[in-house]
Amino acid sequence: MIKKVLISSCLLGENVRYNGGNAKTKHTFIDKLTSEGRVISVCPEASAGCPIPRPSSEIVGSGGGTAVLEREAKILNAKGKNVTDKYIHGAQIVLKIAKKHKIKIAVLKDGSPSCGSINIYDGSFSNKKIKQEGVTAALLRSNGIKVFTEDQLEEVKKIFD
Ligand code: SF4
Repeated sequence: MIKKVLISSCLLGENVRYNGGNAKTKHTFIDKLTSEGRVISVCPEASAGCPIPRPSSEIVGSGGGTAVLEREAKILNAKGKNVTDKYIHGAQIVLKIAKKHKIKIAVLKDGSPSCGSINIYDGSFSNKKIKQEGVTAALLRSNGIKVFTEDQLEEVKKIFD
């Protein structure tokens, strides 16, 4: 069975970020996976129909993505609009894709209220990060999928070696 890996679309160079840009991450391991047809590109926010560009968003309240899924925290955009439902919907779409492809590993862009898996912004919109995960990372992890950041590609590579 070919092991496929979910990777955040913005890390692959797709212009889906809130600012209309990408976060292309060059790594020989990504090149290898891509050439072998083992990459599934996912952007939870774009999949849920969020516009590109869009105002930045942050999780407000404690507990990160898990608390958002339990409706104990919310996601607001920089204009104060509650976008929680859209972001949860995006996470659910990504989980469905993961299940369809029997995914066990995801490499997601850190810092995002959706994809962050080590750090996210703290909800104050003042450029401060905290150790927490985003809503998609939390949902994938609660379904047994290992989530890594773009800075942990060497670790992911070892799993495949
Ligand atoms: Fe990248 Fe994830 Fe944000 Fe989409 S939701 S732009 S994949 S960090």
